[in-house]
Amino acid sequence: MTRINENYLKLKAGYLFPEIGRRVKAYSDANADKRIIRLGIGDVTLPLVPSIVNAMVEAAKEMGTPGGFHGYGPEQGYSFLINKIIEHDYTKRGVKISEDEVFVSDGSKCDAGNIQEIFSLDSKIAVVDPVYPVYVDTNVMAGRTGEVNAHGHYENIVYMPATEANNFEPEFPKEKADIIYLCYPNNPTGMVATKERLAEWVAFAHKSGSIILFDSAYESFIQDPTIPKSIYEIEGAKEVAIEFRSFSKTAGFTGTRCAYIVIPKELKGKTSKGEEISFNSLWSRRHTTKFNGVSYVTQKGAEAVFSAQGQKEIGEQISYYMENARLIREGLGASGYKIFGGLNAPYIWLKTPRNLKSWEFFDELLSKAQIVGTPGSGFGPAGEGYFRLSAFGKREDVLSAIERIQKI
Ligand SMILES: *Cc1c(COP(=O)(O)O)cnc(C)c1O
Repeated sequence: MTRINENYLKLKAGYLFPEIGRRVKAYSDANADKRIIRLGIGDVTLPLVPSIVNAMVEAAKEMGTPGGFHGYGPEQGYSFLINKIIEHDYTKRGVKISEDEVFVSDGSKCDAGNIQEIFSLDSKIAVVDPVYPVYVDTNVMAGRTGEVNAHGHYENIVYMPATEANNFEPEFPKEKADIIYLCYPNNPTGMVATKERLAEWVAFAHKSGSIILFDSAYESFIQDPTIPKSIYEIEGAKEVAIEFRSFSKTAGFTGTRCAYIVIPKELKGKTSKGEEISFNSLWSRRHTTKFNGVSYVTQKGAEAVFSAQGQKEIGEQISYYMENARLIREGLGASGYKIFGGLNAPYIWLKTPRNLKSWEFFDELLSKAQIVGTPGSGFGPAGEGYFRLSAFGKREDVLSAIERIQKI
């Protein structure tokens, strides 16, 4: 028989969200009369805004005309979208990015998962603990790690714990790491990195010869103007960092699918013989070989995000979610919960009361208040004793959830 890729067998069984689903189903089967409020998911709930919908409808109509039909487009993305991205997300913030440094894709999850292909298999990765599981699992699949050890960590990955003890500001990796994954504003903790801290990361990457993979999927939720939205706002970052951006949380594209990745040409790696190669050229080769572009209709919808009306409309949605975050922060804070995040991100990270384990608190919240959140331990061992609530819910659900939690 054909051999399988046994790296897949190293993946931890019982992935977080299926386990949540199983427990919620068991509870609701036994308590059919109770209404469950879901604040666990990392998915948006508001519909696409009118300017995006209109742009997509127009693009779909165009596709139905002989002159407006589009077949395969450029794999890297249409210039009309890439130029808007550059102008709005980079030029306006004083960052120079050229058209061939941006690659449009169907999602940051895919990008963050696929990017590891352009690095040597023996490169070592460092991740923050707790972490977005995609960074870790895709490296496990590729064979860059050993098995999970007794702490719940994979062998051959460098973990950087982010806990209350270090104010969720992980220390630099103590061992040599070739690739460092950072996500700011952070999922799951909702915390951000200051400009000073990001500058220290960039300096560290220069000194240690590492590359930073910077996931900026939540940049549009940043409220504090001193917090950088892009790592390239830091001088010297172009030589050491790749950035991921997505329309998913920014503009409600979780079901529409559009994202992009920026790989500056200054970013170089070397061959075993010591020859320098730009990662941009490798990714370009990969992207054009394995991907055939995001649909014209979707890219037209994404383009509308950058129009004045689009910005106004998505700005209102972001304010709505951030008002949810404020209500959760203040409501739970008033009940004595220790709260983190939620100021520049749509996630609230809370310390479980009475030193409960994350899953114990999950069960308590479900059975006593019919609220579903996400156990922190599902994001890594350092998340044990913490719990994530999402601000992506409907306002009435958020308000009843706070009331129910206050009654526990
Ligand atoms: C939601 C999310 C993304 C976006 O993923 P898409 O595939 O673009 O929908 C990226 N990174 C993190 C950490 C996320 O939580």
